[in-house]
Amino acid sequence: MNQVDYLRISLIDRCNYRCQYCMPEGSELDYVLQKDLLTQQELLTLIKQIFIPLGFSKIRLTGGEPLLRAELIEIVENISSYEQISDLALTTNGYFLEEKAQDLYNAGLRRINISLDSLNPQTFNNIIGRSAPELWHKTWRGIQKAHQVGFDPLKINVVIIPGINEEEIEDIEALTIERNWHVRYIEFMPIGNDELFQQRAWVPSTEIRERIKQRWGLVESSVKGNGPADVYQIPDAQGTLGFISQMSECFCDRCNRLRLSADGWLRPCLLNETGQIDLKSALRSNQTLEQIQQQVRELLEAKKDINFKLRDKGAQFYTRTMSQIGG
Ligand code: SAM
Ligand code: SF4
Repeated sequence: MNQVDYLRISLIDRCNYRCQYCMPEGSELDYVLQKDLLTQQELLTLIKQIFIPLGFSKIRLTGGEPLLRAELIEIVENISSYEQISDLALTTNGYFLEEKAQDLYNAGLRRINISLDSLNPQTFNNIIGRSAPELWHKTWRGIQKAHQVGFDPLKINVVIIPGINEEEIEDIEALTIERNWHVRYIEFMPIGNDELFQQRAWVPSTEIRERIKQRWGLVESSVKGNGPADVYQIPDAQGTLGFISQMSECFCDRCNRLRLSADGWLRPCLLNETGQIDLKSALRSNQTLEQIQQQVRELLEAKKDINFKLRDKGAQFYTRTMSQIGG
């Protein structure tokens, strides 16, 4: 089993979008109350006193929409000042980037993933569950701004949903030809909107790759990430194409991450909550940092047997949406 050295932190479970596959309009979500969010101080204590000593060196900030989190810039500034953290990244829907990209960069952030499931403003609105006409343009300006201030790598996350944005696969792909942007396809998972999943199903990475190959040609890329993506490239393109195939492939054996939710639950697996620890309650009770660290160590030891391998057998170990887990 891989060394587990990567922590994904959900800073907030709220979002200004209502993506159909994540938190569709009308779905009932129990948002975390402000008092139950990990405070900045608690978060930094956990990183510094628990995770860094246990060998963690990579952090991704996500949500919900992390740019809605008050103190985000300060949080980034603090984490990026820890020399043991070699890799700090953020995943965002891009809406607020036009205003915040420069501040985030100045605070020390260099790596960013921006979700963009369509190049067509109407389809985009349909996916994000919003109707204001300027939203795609605002998101696009956010991406341009991130590029302009120097984020590198700049990655575009795409979830393909049959019959909704499937026809755009080849066009989205073309974004990587002349720009040093990296597209990451994430297979649609049956969490957040099981009904949509049952209706539309999902497109396996192999099929997406084949379509791109037919249109543009495709070669394996020499650039390898430290995540689960299989990375390819259109010949001579500046950017790369990554495929995250959590539905069609099982990469549990090379999983290198834990997830910390906005209310402080530390989870061993995206889709399996077995063994999760309530770090917020631990911090707010009389437990010592040594005791908390011991619990995390035990979770790390148990992690190899806590996975998503039973997904095809209908195992339902999870009860949360991606926005609550921190996708
Ligand atoms: N709000 C930010 C964003 O959209 O980038 C960060 C949080 S979002 C939960 C993180 C990633 O999870 C996004 O790229 C989104 O497309 C993906 N995601 C959400 N629900 C998903 C699902 N049911 N299947 C696959 N990916 C999903
Ligand atoms: Fe919000 Fe991101 Fe979920 Fe879309 S995928 S609803 S932007 S948290």
